[in-house]
Amino acid sequence: MKNQLAGTIKTMKEKGLYNYIKTVESEQGAYLLVDGKKYLNLCSNNYLGLAAHPRLKKAAQEAIEKFGVGTASVRSLIGTNSLHLELEKELASFKKAEGAIVVTSGYLANLAAIQTLLGKDDIVISDELNHASIIDAVRLAQVTNKFIYKHGDVKNLRSQIAKINALKNEKTPDGANRQVLIVTDGVFSMDGDIAPLPELVAVARDLGAYLMVDDAHGEGVLGKNGRGIVDHFHLHGQVDIEVGTLSKAFGVLGGFITGKKSLVEYYRQRARQFLFTNALSIPDTAALIAGVRMMGESDRLLKKLWSNTEFLKESLKKAGFDIGQSVTPLTPVMVGDENKAKEFAAFLFQEGVMVSAIKYPMVALGKARLRLIPSAAHTKKDLRYGVEKISLIGKKLGLI
Ligand SMILES: *Cc1c(COP(=O)(O)O)cnc(C)c1O
Repeated sequence: MKNQLAGTIKTMKEKGLYNYIKTVESEQGAYLLVDGKKYLNLCSNNYLGLAAHPRLKKAAQEAIEKFGVGTASVRSLIGTNSLHLELEKELASFKKAEGAIVVTSGYLANLAAIQTLLGKDDIVISDELNHASIIDAVRLAQVTNKFIYKHGDVKNLRSQIAKINALKNEKTPDGANRQVLIVTDGVFSMDGDIAPLPELVAVARDLGAYLMVDDAHGEGVLGKNGRGIVDHFHLHGQVDIEVGTLSKAFGVLGGFITGKKSLVEYYRQRARQFLFTNALSIPDTAALIAGVRMMGESDRLLKKLWSNTEFLKESLKKAGFDIGQSVTPLTPVMVGDENKAKEFAAFLFQEGVMVSAIKYPMVALGKARLRLIPSAAHTKKDLRYGVEKISLIGKKLGLI
């Protein structure tokens, strides 16, 4: 067995599939220190630059003095600190929802949201490009009735409705009604496009289904003050379950679910990801409270993020790159060939610019690309420097 594992790793290395994980020796900002060398950072999900913001640091330090660091228990026993309730209140108010429940990651929030609600006889309707954590959540819930629709394609979803309705009208073997859940990412992290949420609200209404959106890349990015995709489309109260991560724009760590009071209370009583794993730590929670408050108070960082996004996209287009169909800060630079995308990222790394190469199986074969993520932590000068280097290598590889 042990030899088998070592063998697999050896093969991965030989085939170029092994992931050499980099170690950061600085805080997360416009630049990163890796192996003692400074790199322009165009790959973190630190949209608003909160990961090392002074106000969040200070909040964490003060909370440590008062409450220590750990919570030493699960939320449902004695791990709930007053800070957790304060954070949940801030999040509910920020998202304009009745209630919020916080867990220790966005991944766990998706597991909680789906596993707690659905069982094997229920029905899930899912976008084909949904995040891995949604796919895992559906597996964990052991749902057997899965309807996958083409990415963002509500027509394709509607073409399956007769079948879904027929199944929904059949009782389960124990004589119960079947629950139906439509689930989608808000912003899709490979292309930077967004879900057709208003149309999905209509389908959910027609089907009597729950509608759930995973807003991981939408919060801190879309809507007023970065409230997310539901605010962007003015659909407050019409999406039953909103899942968020506190590990991207919010700058720290954690995940949460917002929705009606009864839904949140149900999760608080039943979600295994809340009941059987420890609470978010004191410094994390305190920093998050400060961050959410800051986002609610001012849209200064959000405006900077968008102005940087427009600058980056315009500069790349002017240089002649195909940057896909993104409508968010997530900016693909299309390459096509898998090895060329890998080479592109490696050459940029040598030039002091850190970007992610995204290739099969994360995207379809032949659709490999770089993915750039600007942040409010960047200046225009930083981005100009990045585009210069990207153009230099792009020319060398014959892309422009
Ligand atoms: C990043 C991400 C998650 C996971 O969030 P974590 O807090 O890192 O666990 C879930 N869903 C989507 C769509 C994401 O992009």
